[in-house]
Amino acid sequence: PARVKIKKLLASEASEQQANVKGWVRTKRGGKPVFFIALNDGSTINNIQIVADPEIISENIIKDITTGAALSVIGKVVASKGAGQSVEILAENIEVIGKADAEKYPLQPKKHSMEFMREKAHLRMRSSTFSAIFRIRHSLAFAIHQFFHEKGFYNLHTPIITANDAEGAGETFHVTNFDLDKIPMTDDGKVDYKKDFFGKETNLTVSGQLEGELSAMALGEIYTFGPTFRAENSNTTRHLAEFWMVEPEMAFYDLNDNMALAEEMLKYVVKYALENCQDDLDFLAKRADDEDKQKPQNERQEMGLMERLKFILENDFEKVSYTDAIEILRNSKPNKKKKFNYIIEGWGADLQSEHERFLVEKHFKKPVILFDYPKDIKAFYMRQNDDDKTVGAMDILFPGIGEIVGGSQREERLDKLTQRMKEMDIPEDELWWYLDTRKFGTAPHSGFGLGFERLMLFVTGMGNIRDVIPFPRTPDNAEF
Ligand code: ATP
Ligand code: MG
Ligand code: MG
Ligand code: MG
Repeated sequence: PARVKIKKLLASEASEQQANVKGWVRTKRGGKPVFFIALNDGSTINNIQIVADPEIISENIIKDITTGAALSVIGKVVASKGAGQSVEILAENIEVIGKADAEKYPLQPKKHSMEFMREKAHLRMRSSTFSAIFRIRHSLAFAIHQFFHEKGFYNLHTPIITANDAEGAGETFHVTNFDLDKIPMTDDGKVDYKKDFFGKETNLTVSGQLEGELSAMALGEIYTFGPTFRAENSNTTRHLAEFWMVEPEMAFYDLNDNMALAEEMLKYVVKYALENCQDDLDFLAKRADDEDKQKPQNERQEMGLMERLKFILENDFEKVSYTDAIEILRNSKPNKKKKFNYIIEGWGADLQSEHERFLVEKHFKKPVILFDYPKDIKAFYMRQNDDDKTVGAMDILFPGIGEIVGGSQREERLDKLTQRMKEMDIPEDELWWYLDTRKFGTAPHSGFGLGFERLMLFVTGMGNIRDVIPFPRTPDNAEF
């Protein structure tokens, strides 16, 4: 018989016909008169139960059926008496395709810590938790593409290697093909980048935005969805050195249009996950809620995972100016023993995720869009407001996460833009191509960046960003 995926088989009726499944052993139990194998092929959180009779399957084969081994099983598809599954397979033939030494295979069936699983990142996708996470990752990426496609946006690939630091945060990774033992120097003792591959200093992109703007000013509405790189020196549960960003950029959108699009997109993808990833989400919700119960009271989530997902769908996002948010934070007295024990420095300071979560979870009890931030804590390209102090920026804040989206209306006025660049010591000749969009046919435009792994954290209820990307890149970690 032809191979059938376990997800499809589990959704079918007991046919009493032969089927072939291939996958990896999760557990084996029983012995006489029959033993049971839970087999998984990655297509679903659920395992298919294989019932095997030692009178039919030889002893030699049975001994090699251990957790982690790869099997091909042929047998009859029959109704299952076990709870939670409609069918099982009565094995007629089992082939052990690849053995997994029970002494050495690390993922024995027991509860492993997340730290342990990170050390085994090359195998951890074989576990229920991580396979569920990465199926959801696929679905969310698909939903994002579908959302923008339905709206008529074009997916444009912006470059990975660039010569700009869009955010100006100085967190770039350099790119060079110099032989590091023989770096050419100029007469005045500087690295001679003219001799480097691109003839100038280059880095891995921290954001596709600037190139995205060029594209939007030609194609109207575009988005880029690619890897971005930041040499973050902070070791947090929210930052990676390599993360994926969804960056739409739209001509003729003001800040309000931008906020509306971001809210619609976030609702669309969360709804998509609830409708299309039910089994995986149920599994992860139980896991997240169980984990949460283990934590001290002041570290627990305000809501369970499913509740948090529905919270996004059921609430209009609350729009609050940065200035109002600072007032709220100053007037609400943080309690030393309680969860939101924060210090707020006052107008002008950037918010920490503690502050952001307080606004969402305690104060407004709604997802929050903060807008009009002080210009001094934001990048040069944001549109300056008439008050001369703030820019048309917006951050979207989610429960349990804090900032999930950062965006702005872009400064489309050449004189204002170049004046701001001068104030911030950004040489015009480095961004001449960017300034050309303002010189020729400039127009209001806006865009935002959604951190894809922040969205993953939110949807899966995982607590650490290292656990929602297959191969995390963090300080001192590029093993796999
Ligand atoms: P944060 O304040 O959390 O450091 P940011 O304001 O520096 O984020 P932006 O430059 O606004 O980040 O980037 C857009 C989005 O990308 C953020 O809203 C966030 O979702 C995500 N993001 C930023 N830095 C990282 C990172 N190091 N790892 C994962 N996601 C990130
Ligand atoms: Mg940052
Ligand atoms: Mg920020
Ligand atoms: Mg930001």
